[in-house]
Amino acid sequence: MAAVTGRVPFIAGNWKMNLDHLQAIAFVQKLAWTLKDARHDFDTVEVAVFPPFTDLRSVQTLIAGDKLPLAFGAQDLSQHDSGAYTGDISGAFLKALDCRYVIVGHSERRTLHGETDEVVAAKSAAAVKHGLVPVICVGETAEDLEQHGAAAVPVAQLRAALTGLPKGADVVVAYEPVWAIGSGQAATPDQAQQVAAALRPVVSELLGDEAGQATRILYGGSVKAGNIAGFMRSPDVDGALVGGASLDIAEFSAIAQFPKHVGT
Ligand code: PEP
Repeated sequence: MAAVTGRVPFIAGNWKMNLDHLQAIAFVQKLAWTLKDARHDFDTVEVAVFPPFTDLRSVQTLIAGDKLPLAFGAQDLSQHDSGAYTGDISGAFLKALDCRYVIVGHSERRTLHGETDEVVAAKSAAAVKHGLVPVICVGETAEDLEQHGAAAVPVAQLRAALTGLPKGADVVVAYEPVWAIGSGQAATPDQAQQVAAALRPVVSELLGDEAGQATRILYGGSVKAGNIAGFMRSPDVDGALVGGASLDIAEFSAIAQFPKHVGT
């Protein structure tokens, strides 16, 4: 963990298409209070929310106005800066809203919106260009797992996404086996560690050794308060990208509070 690796653990909540802007305000307020009550140390474990686009302005205003120590980001961005791209959102707009992060290449974008490795690479480059930190999602399907093992597809996806980024680029990698997302069937900590350990050298190779050591690699897929400790004991896993459980304030707070139960 952080003391050993220098990487600050990161717990990120991907809300997907849930919570409108009014619900988001109530949710973020309550999440911040819950973590404050639990004396959460945000310097020790960073916590971020990833609301839908329409919530971002409200979340930004609340976090800035109340000086809440939560980070926030968007769930996607366009690879283009501006122009005739109906429905798309530029990284420049997200930066103007003080987003720090943006999720790129989530498996739901790859599957439901046909995002290829090339598109994910272009979006990752657009994020970096606009001063956003891309949270680059990679992961194998159940079929990939059977045919190629766990690491081959995520490694290839990450290689494609990082190619073209400047050396030293600030990125977060999220290893999310597709079969584990929303299924209730998480990978084991050993599986997550094995893939994270295969991803880290790809970061070193393409972004430089320093970035390889500094880049946080998250595990995602059916993470809950009850299984986070196992993942956080894995030396190459630096946090979690949480979907369903990020919509439950008590559960998400308990996940962020993992140092309290990581030794148990
Ligand atoms: C996700 O969608 O990124 C995710 C990890 O979902 P869940 O936690 O619900 O499996």
